[in-house]
Amino acid sequence: MKILVVEDEPDLLRLLAQALRESGYAVDEAADGEEGLYKATVWEYDLVILDLLLPRLNGWDVLQRLRKVRRTPVLILTARDAVQDRVRGLDSGADDYLAKPYHLTELLARVRALIRRSAGQAASEIQIGPLLLDTRSRTVTLSGAAIQLTPREYSLLELLALNRGAIVTRTQIYEHLFEEQEESFSNLVDVHVSNLRRKLGGDFITTRRGQGYLLHD
Ligand code: CA
Repeated sequence: MKILVVEDEPDLLRLLAQALRESGYAVDEAADGEEGLYKATVWEYDLVILDLLLPRLNGWDVLQRLRKVRRTPVLILTARDAVQDRVRGLDSGADDYLAKPYHLTELLARVRALIRRSAGQAASEIQIGPLLLDTRSRTVTLSGAAIQLTPREYSLLELLALNRGAIVTRTQIYEHLFEEQEESFSNLVDVHVSNLRRKLGGDFITTRRGQGYLLHD
């Protein structure tokens, strides 16, 4: 799952991006409103975390313009905590609002909830036959036995699980798992899929040649 963080304070941006990466997310960064709007429009993110007071274009304007083209979940994270700021943010199309200073555990819980809900998944556990994903602990069990996955294998499985029953294209996998800065090659997607398949055993994941991958419901 990939998150765009739009924040103009370099230290805050760095700390937040680091915390999100440690929690297993791929993270892209934008240091002003224009860059944030550009990236959020061009790429498909699972979530945008948006500051309000930003150079070049403020967060409310970023939101209003983004909402004309994309439904990406947006969490506003800002020092502006007045009721009218919250209302204006939510009315501009934000999905959630958290004031700085924030508790990291709460931020991460809201991030998980927003990503889950945008995929139509209300509960934090996803059960698919004998396969159980716990999106809070990012752990997987198969018939009750723990499966050891790398962070990226887990992210891949979660992406397929949130879209279960539908084809997920290699481009989508690429966009959701890899950061813009990363040197990565498209065949890495196939490598992760084949590793995941080996660890899960059975035939949970089907390849649709020329289209993508599918996790059966
Ligand atoms: Ca700011």
